[in-house]
Amino acid sequence: STWWGHVGPAPKDPILGVTESYLADPSDGKVNVGVGAYRDDNGQPVVLECVRMAEQRIAGIEYMEYLPMAGMKRFNGLAIKLAYGDDSPVIKERRVAAVQALSGTGACRLMADLQHRFRPESQVFFPVPTWSNHLNIWRDANVMVKSFRYYNPKTKGLDFEGMMEDVKNAPNGSFFVLHACAHNPTGVDPSTEEWKEVSSLFKEKNHFVVFDMAYQGFASGDTSKDRQAIRIFLEDGHQVACAQSFAKNMGLYGQRIGCLSIVCHSEMEAANVQSQVQQIARPMYSNPPLHGAHLVATILSDPGLKELWLKEVKMMADRIKLMRSLLREHLEGIGSQINWEHITKQIGMFCFSGLTPAQVDELTKNYHIYMTRNGRISMAGVTTKNVEYLAHAIHTVTK
Ligand code: PMP
Repeated sequence: STWWGHVGPAPKDPILGVTESYLADPSDGKVNVGVGAYRDDNGQPVVLECVRMAEQRIAGIEYMEYLPMAGMKRFNGLAIKLAYGDDSPVIKERRVAAVQALSGTGACRLMADLQHRFRPESQVFFPVPTWSNHLNIWRDANVMVKSFRYYNPKTKGLDFEGMMEDVKNAPNGSFFVLHACAHNPTGVDPSTEEWKEVSSLFKEKNHFVVFDMAYQGFASGDTSKDRQAIRIFLEDGHQVACAQSFAKNMGLYGQRIGCLSIVCHSEMEAANVQSQVQQIARPMYSNPPLHGAHLVATILSDPGLKELWLKEVKMMADRIKLMRSLLREHLEGIGSQINWEHITKQIGMFCFSGLTPAQVDELTKNYHIYMTRNGRISMAGVTTKNVEYLAHAIHTVTK
């Protein structure tokens, strides 16, 4: 007999499963527009120059002791300045609790556990659609998961009215997870004016917002523009939380470096909340890894390296924007009768193409093109070399 005979296979992850299938395909011309990881125009992963320089600076000089449970204090301080602004009053008033986290995923998980522990009656609302892992994270933290309208498939844009209605109808004092910028998977963000209306309605309803900011810099190419939603909410006096990731904007995917911050009412409240969040981390992993924290802290604290980083973020965002225009041009150029305006209207790493699961299956089967079945194209996987092939294939399956 065996201990684990009753265990069946787990369902494939809808995003990471795509990469597995891609890797297993022996074909030469295969295209991976599945996972959201930046690639250069040769389809290769990129290590940023600022990261290479930071690595040289930290090589050999650092000890390898444990970090404290809350991670590297210097890193946390620099991360929240990036999220809330250098001269943010909430930082000056020392009322931000901040804990280094295992990238954006880990930051979300700490937040979900904090919610479950100290607001046990509350629910959490997610946009439809959202990053699929959000639902797993809050589910595993035993929080009741709800949804609100966000995307309108007809316009391939924001369902602003539906969203506002659902926000209004949620019980007062609910938790909402909002994508701070570059919404995944739709690439659809509210405008500045819309954010202001959202913020004021949230105030009325006394909802709590967790900003998931996995793409700061990737939407506009400018990290301060990309934190506009957080700025607007802070100006309205909200206490927000922010789950930050440096996976995409510094290309530190495998380093698992991120930060969970929570704006509190007072310095004492922040100290209490921080002590509780690090207590949640303790039985999970004790303390976070060192290397990524050194890299980010080195880059953000050195004016020259920071300037280089901001340039490199913009370069990545610009390449993606260029691929959007090229993909749209090629589709229109070969005579597609479908309106492809949304390819260039949507922002960030993804294009929510409108392709159906059946069309995606056909792209994979006939053209060795891999993407999630919801029709999400990772624009970072598009290059000047494969864009024409991709356009031709999309045109053929949508004719
Ligand atoms: N939130 C969103 C919306 C994301 O798209 C991602 C990355 N796919 C994350 C969080 C977290 O990623 P990571 O844990 O690698 O930082």
